[in-house]
Amino acid sequence: MPLKQVEILGVNVNSLTMAQAVEAVQQFIAEKKVALVATANAEMLMRSTQDEELKDILNQADLVVPDGAGTVWAAGHLGEPMPERVAGFDLAQELMREAPARGDRIYFFGSAPGVADKAKAKAEELYPGIQVVGTRNGFFTEADEPGIIAEIKAARPDILLAALGVPKQEKWLKKHMQELQVPVSIGVGGTLDVMAGVMERAPLWMQKAKLEWLFRGLKQPSRAGRLLALPKFVLKVVASKK
Ligand code: UDP
Repeated sequence: MPLKQVEILGVNVNSLTMAQAVEAVQQFIAEKKVALVATANAEMLMRSTQDEELKDILNQADLVVPDGAGTVWAAGHLGEPMPERVAGFDLAQELMREAPARGDRIYFFGSAPGVADKAKAKAEELYPGIQVVGTRNGFFTEADEPGIIAEIKAARPDILLAALGVPKQEKWLKKHMQELQVPVSIGVGGTLDVMAGVMERAPLWMQKAKLEWLFRGLKQPSRAGRLLALPKFVLKVVASKK
């Protein structure tokens, strides 16, 4: 059965549970499809209103999960409530938890030098038997790209987790996914940073109170300006309601 979609600020976001998202990704792997998965939070949806390329990539993606309280709120406000939030970080963890038994091979691409290796060590501790078949930091020049692509291809991952930030990760994956021939590529933002312990995730009570965005803004003052994206998003969604 095709998954339901809700259009939020011109982007079709899938309405689904975490379990359905995991199943969809595993289905892509089984089909050996070359699929792109995006994790749409309020900031990404706001950005896509000013970035046509990003908007097109999201609308052509095979799966767009509702990452964040803002996205789930918007769907509800537009009269199409979603079952739950599917955060990119959590989706990556669920896929990794099931990877050892399924034999899924994972590649970590992105973040500062050393971070992906630390995240790999963490994954091996959390999910015994996991095959993280390669790591590569996310800082490179165009001249490095053929080498990076060759490295990823040679590692033959089933899942490529790309943590280059928005919209770099989506644009990079879109441009190279056919050449890479990895069944599933997912843009996961700060996931490797959190796994490596470089960046803290909000405490559970704040996640439950839907205040993760506030935590991130306070922890990284350089991002404080980005906090404004949320109220702007709310106003834009309200204005977009037909
Ligand atoms: N990053 C990267 N290459 C770049 C820019 C950023 O690998 O050229 C990494 C950065 O180190 C961080 C991740 O991208 O680990 C996500 O960054 P940020 O939290 O700013 O992204 P967002 O919240 O927009 O996904």
